[in-house]
Amino acid sequence: MSGKQPPQYDMLTVGPFRQHTSLLWRPETGCGVIFDPGGETDRLLGIIDGYGLTIEAIVLTHGHLDHVGGAAEMQERLTARQGGVHVPVIGPDPRDAFLMSSVEESAAHFGVSGLRNIKADRDTSDGEVVNVAGMELHVRHVPGHTPGHVVYFCPEAEVVFAGDTLFRGTVGRTDFPYGDGPLLSRMIRERILPMGDKVVVIPGHGLPTNIGEERRNNPFLQ
Ligand SMILES: [Zn+2]
Repeated sequence: MSGKQPPQYDMLTVGPFRQHTSLLWRPETGCGVIFDPGGETDRLLGIIDGYGLTIEAIVLTHGHLDHVGGAAEMQERLTARQGGVHVPVIGPDPRDAFLMSSVEESAAHFGVSGLRNIKADRDTSDGEVVNVAGMELHVRHVPGHTPGHVVYFCPEAEVVFAGDTLFRGTVGRTDFPYGDGPLLSRMIRERILPMGDKVVVIPGHGLPTNIGEERRNNPFLQ
């Protein structure tokens, strides 16, 4: 055996909405990224330390508070711990900026404390490849749950970080003023299913699945 090992990942459940924050990293270097830090910053930093990781970016799928509400604190804490080197927030598509700037207002509405507004250092857009921590993340814009929702496919690890688009046996909510159910199903079919049946889907909530399973059995995709 020679050559690089595939990136490794771990899915962690945080906060009152039981949202998934994920880590993805290169085992040879210990450099990686964190997806959707939605709170419980101390616990997440402990897990990052347990793996011995250097986190080079915070990567966001969409602007909902349970996915992004911990990003500002995580950015400050990681930047301070890593010698003041700014840890950028990457994504989502700028069409979710209105949600990211109203996290504090939404959190007050839900009675959740400690979540903060966040601004991307770098927006992402459909078809783009983000090179970070020695890994490639292929960006697909999958609107319908929110207007600016993107997913991140890591071909080398055969995994997609899907946020609130595709779940095991269902799809993300679309009962928001800006939601669009038919669009979400169409975008999943056009932009996620072609990644391949073997690809593992890490959703924003609930159990992981894979694309083949959802292609065959998910009632929203038939
Ligand atoms: Zn959401």
